Amino acid sequence: MDECIFCKIARGEMESEILYADEEVIAFRDINPQAPVHFLVVPRKHIVSALDLSPGDAGLLSRIFEVIKTVAEKEDIAASGMRILTNVGRAAEQIVLHLHFHVLGGRRMHWPPG
Ligand code: 5GP
Ligand code: ZN
Repeated sequence: MDECIFCKIARGEMESEILYADEEVIAFRDINPQAPVHFLVVPRKHIVSALDLSPGDAGLLSRIFEVIKTVAEKEDIAASGMRILTNVGRAAEQIVLHLHFHVLGGRRMHWPPG
């Protein structure tokens, strides 16, 4: 997708602080962090949201969660506890229409979320 900002980041056409990258998945810091540690884990493939995953994406999803764990351990938020979330659609205020998992940590998380 030419105009999608996360596709652009994945192609290296836009600046970001990349924390992890392989052929399928990238992780980078959120530009507007909501916690001391806040990064996004994103498939290189343009998938709009969690509702657009298909059975063929099972391996990709599993890789995404492996990357979440690897980067969370590297960022030292895994042991203390952290939050993983993905927004879907308007009511959840999904701004970027390219599937991404927010990973937040380094502070106490509140529930219910906003
Ligand atoms: P959403 O509301 O779609 O779940 O969240 C999109 C997230 O992407 C937001 O937390 C926002 O700060 C982040 N974001 C938007 N544009 C950029 C960008 O150009 N670079 C980075 N690193 N993060 C971005
Ligand atoms: Zn995209």
